[in-house]
Amino acid sequence: MNKPSTHQSKRASPPAATAPSGDSAAAAEEAALYKLFISPGQSELTSGRLMNKLRTAGILDDDPRAREIFKKLLAHRDDKSAVSFEEFGELFALNPSLFQRVAEDSLVIPNWDQFSVSVQGIVTDISKLTGGKVASYIPELARVPAEKFGLSLCTVDGQRAHFGDAQDQFSIQSISKTISYCIASEEVGAETLHQSIGREPSGHSFNAITLDSRGRPHNPMINAGAIVSCSLIRSNESASTRFAHVFDRWKDLTADGDVSFNNTVFLSERDSADRNFALAYFLRENAAFPKNTDIRATLDFYFQCCSVEMTCDSMAIAAATLANGGVNPLTDKRVFSTETVKNCLSLMHSCGMYDFSGEFAFLIGVPAKSGVGGGIMVVIPEVMGFCIWSPPLDVLGNSVRGIEFCKRLMSKYSFHNFDIVAGSDAQKIDPTQRRKSVNNARIVDLCWAAAKGDTREIQRLVASGADLNGADYDGRTALHIAASEGQAVSVKYILQNGGSPEAKDRWGNSPLQDAQRGGHAEIVTIFQQQGQ
Ligand code: GLN
Repeated sequence: MNKPSTHQSKRASPPAATAPSGDSAAAAEEAALYKLFISPGQSELTSGRLMNKLRTAGILDDDPRAREIFKKLLAHRDDKSAVSFEEFGELFALNPSLFQRVAEDSLVIPNWDQFSVSVQGIVTDISKLTGGKVASYIPELARVPAEKFGLSLCTVDGQRAHFGDAQDQFSIQSISKTISYCIASEEVGAETLHQSIGREPSGHSFNAITLDSRGRPHNPMINAGAIVSCSLIRSNESASTRFAHVFDRWKDLTADGDVSFNNTVFLSERDSADRNFALAYFLRENAAFPKNTDIRATLDFYFQCCSVEMTCDSMAIAAATLANGGVNPLTDKRVFSTETVKNCLSLMHSCGMYDFSGEFAFLIGVPAKSGVGGGIMVVIPEVMGFCIWSPPLDVLGNSVRGIEFCKRLMSKYSFHNFDIVAGSDAQKIDPTQRRKSVNNARIVDLCWAAAKGDTREIQRLVASGADLNGADYDGRTALHIAASEGQAVSVKYILQNGGSPEAKDRWGNSPLQDAQRGGHAEIVTIFQQQGQ
């Protein structure tokens, strides 16, 4: 049997990629992690247990960070076969930080499993919704079955889950406008780009023939703006180079995911594009394009960008890359600068959902972009991205189920941008680590206030939601600290407001014992009056 304790001594010649021999701190850490992965009551780690730990944390088999790890574990005879400490060392060395974070539950959504189950519940409810009409302006979209329904989530730590038809390809259509904007902006610079494209919601439909008072398209999330974005991308290069450039960025954004081009959609788009042609000529008439812009080539390029197809799985990774400030969480590759991403998210927030953008910002409160293919890409900055796809659209052109899903998700979880000002809203759940760290910070503040005997500050912290019985790393509560520092008024206040005199720190000491040891007779009396 391969328990870490018995094997540490054998680590004189550890596997090549693990911590160098002699680095006993690293070896001890590895041994501690090994233990964290073992099931309670068991003494050895099985391949099934390790895979299960990774998967329930949201690390999937095709994750480029874990592919090799899963491959090695799947090569085991069966799920019950043991993973020796040596083998664990080898696997650990493939991605130490991933192992560590999974073992310590420190990924951005720690209870991923529970969170996914709850999302599944929302998906099940939403799947009963009917209504809306599948886009019919081209036969390829009209033909997509209305009942198709997929959702994929991906966090900024690469935790993933998918539901329903998440692996079907769908036409991304207007969602492409986000990435065309990012690419154009990085190429010419945001300032230059915005001399040609505004940043205001238009108040008109996405394909309206209208420009702002300066003769620019209102924003890059509507057709006029996206056509100008396209005109700026590698404008002196061949059509193939230009499209390959956009396509490659999607590949980067999706960690080389499922991204393809549907030529039939492209041809249909071009055949039914009177409005887009009218728009392009109107743009040219108003000198909204860079000089020498070839209208046909630019429109073709725009239609090609709309004719990219993707799965919800891939689009969710792209959304997570935006949520992660432009760095793909699965490959660690930077795709866009933080500045570009910030600009893009700001525009998605104010203009991404057609004539529902203001409502969406109000109700849902996060950046999103929808397309007439029925997809919506949603970005919850610093937490996760997701993509929902259901073809029937409402009168404004947004997926009916997509919008409803967002509403339901946001009513349960505190993801709305401004949920922060309603921090005490106990109705909503924050599934992220953030709340944990906020709580930890509050406990530190509480302990400091107790040490100084600043009872007003203690009062204030409790009013803002701090847990009076919260303990620091050593199990020390505010009451322990106030008692050992001789802060009688604070001790009284804490006891009167639910602070537990029974709390034990990690050395087994109670607050009363602390007061006795510190010789604070007055405080000992307070405890005795409380029946301690
Ligand atoms: N290809 C469509 C168009 O240009 C895209 C529309 C959309 O998704 N809103 O009209």
